Amino acid sequence: MKKTKNALVILAGGTGERFKKKLPKQFNEINGTNLIDFFLNRIDTTNFDIILVVIKKSYLRFFKNLKTNFPLKKLIYAEAGKNRQTSSLNALKKLKKYKPKNVLIHDAARPFCSNKLTLKILKRLDKNLSAVPYILSPDRKVISKKEFNQNIKLIQTPQGFDFNTIFKSHVNTKINNAKDDSVLISKEKLNFIKGEKLNIKITYPEDLNYFKLFLKPIFKSGIGYDIHQVDTNTKKGLKLCGVKIDFNKLIGHSDADVGIHAICDSIFGALSMKDIGYYFSNKDPKWKNKNSEHFLKFAKIKLQEKKYFITNLDINFICEKPNINKYRKKMISKISSILKIPEKIISIKATTNEKIGFIGDGLGIAAESIVQITNEKPY
Ligand code: ZN
Repeated sequence: MKKTKNALVILAGGTGERFKKKLPKQFNEINGTNLIDFFLNRIDTTNFDIILVVIKKSYLRFFKNLKTNFPLKKLIYAEAGKNRQTSSLNALKKLKKYKPKNVLIHDAARPFCSNKLTLKILKRLDKNLSAVPYILSPDRKVISKKEFNQNIKLIQTPQGFDFNTIFKSHVNTKINNAKDDSVLISKEKLNFIKGEKLNIKITYPEDLNYFKLFLKPIFKSGIGYDIHQVDTNTKKGLKLCGVKIDFNKLIGHSDADVGIHAICDSIFGALSMKDIGYYFSNKDPKWKNKNSEHFLKFAKIKLQEKKYFITNLDINFICEKPNINKYRKKMISKISSILKIPEKIISIKATTNEKIGFIGDGLGIAAESIVQITNEKPY
């Protein structure tokens, strides 16, 4: 077996009693990620030869669904023990056959540890048996006069160790409920390294707000365009953005609402879906004379399913007549009520074609739409 140099252990066996949620905090999905996924994508995993996640058997599905580029063959798990210390020992026992030189033991509840800190710890292990990150607390806990000027050291993870040193310490210790691994090794082998203030531990439900601060929202946009021919034989029946207008109707398989069709296509585009014709074919009798609001409601459901929210919707009509401005407010209110989005993020504009071409001749009405969506609820 090839000699394994660096191993990483992620302790994710906790049940999160202080979290008061059914699902342990490390598995809570926020904006498509969770604490473990986030950490694994934050650090350069190529610095590790093997990664071991300690997990309760009942949550094994979360291990199998981890979103990481790390080779799956080298991503293994160990079963969680009755407390942190036994979980950690279970991990070390499983890693022993891989003969790692160093091991970093990390709590899943500290997802914000930077890649820089993991590198610093690994480097420190070149010449030391351990590298334990700490930060100084600005607050001082005064017990005695002597301690008055001593800042408290707050210990963090990942803690780096020479594998054999920490393994032996675990096996030989008399301690049975250690809160971290560094307390198990003898003082002379302890080597401290400056940690990071941002490497906080997610302990209480409100701490997940920090997690949200770290996550950058995803923004996507989509474009849609549609055009329909004006039925010059009629005088009424036009419908734009769901609003009935006393004007020649448009020719189409459905109700030919170019406005809504363009909006649908822009939403489908932002969601990386296919065009409106794919979902509502103009050859399918089911959609004959269909109210286009139905298509827009479908687009709204797709947004919900993919957990996206509209941040801005800009619609532009191109026609000589009718005067769109007269119906602007009604259209905005209609679209807002179908999509359940605030009116203030909808814009409806119009331009003529300067009497050029078939639109200029009043033979067609076109509409274009640009939408921006985000995965973080904006309203
Ligand atoms: Zn259309």
